[in-house]
Amino acid sequence: MRIRTLTIVGVGLIGGSIGLAARRRGLAERVVGVGRQQATLDRALALEAITETCTDLTEGVRQADLVVFCTPVDLIADQIRVCAPACRPGTLITDAGSTKAALVQAVDGNLPKGISFVGSHPLAGSEKRGPEHAMAGLFEGRVTVVTPTAKSDPEAVARTRAFWEALGSRVVLLNPEAHDQALAMTSHLPHLLASALAGVLPDDLRPLTATGFRDTTRVAGGDPALWTAIFLQNRMPLLKTLETLRGQMDAFQHALTHADGPAIDALLAQGKRNRDALGN
Ligand code: NAP
Repeated sequence: MRIRTLTIVGVGLIGGSIGLAARRRGLAERVVGVGRQQATLDRALALEAITETCTDLTEGVRQADLVVFCTPVDLIADQIRVCAPACRPGTLITDAGSTKAALVQAVDGNLPKGISFVGSHPLAGSEKRGPEHAMAGLFEGRVTVVTPTAKSDPEAVARTRAFWEALGSRVVLLNPEAHDQALAMTSHLPHLLASALAGVLPDDLRPLTATGFRDTTRVAGGDPALWTAIFLQNRMPLLKTLETLRGQMDAFQHALTHADGPAIDALLAQGKRNRDALGN
């Protein structure tokens, strides 16, 4: 795959990593970074994640062959609708947002003729923010979920797939709703749990935390605004997984209340089995 002009809207951790990967792999001749603050764009330019900066969304997409949105999930659909009329026919639009159903539903079938959209979500990243934490190898060997619908143009789906594969990802196709249900369990619930646990730590116990507490709560260091948007966009699937977790918490509480050693052992063994199966 070879792209003449790649436009990245939102050059933070994910957008910056896409730019670095695309440049390192010789995927794009020009990488235009679009953002609201010149200072962030200048940092991304200095890090060589992009080759040009632009603070005007419609100007930034005008010459693009492919546009990737890497802004917070509650902004992406509106940004796509605003800029799509400025895109050239044949332009492919995708995104890296962590939730898919609401976004895809808002965009699907609502773009000007000749402009395609296919949703994506790379399952790679960290709790850090901004282009200074971007990594060229972030997507290597990692799954990217691409979320076509019945309305998607098959050629646009194939191009979206080829783009993520060219960045080193392994692509999995899921419909947007199946993506959101799966990610509620594998990403959004862990974030909620880490935040809840970190949130109840009394200040005076901070010096007594060690690797266990820090490993378990690492993702709670993520940006609250970014994650509020994710939780709200995926509210119903997240509530369902929270119910499942509550059931498991209740089982622990019941076993502890009754000093039921075998039940505690069985619950811990179930957790260990599932965690060991993940590997490192
Ligand atoms: P990030 O480092 O904070 O970058 C977010 C980008 O969006 C920045 O360029 C920021 O610009 C811009 N932005 C934030 N608020 C904005 C607003 N109100 N208007 C316009 N631009 C705004 O976050 P990130 O981790 O790269 O996340 C970007 C997207 O990738 C999100 O949709 C997220 O769900 C998704 N994602 C994240 C991860 C992860 O692990 N981090 C993994 C997969 C997917 P400024 O510099 O001006 O603030």
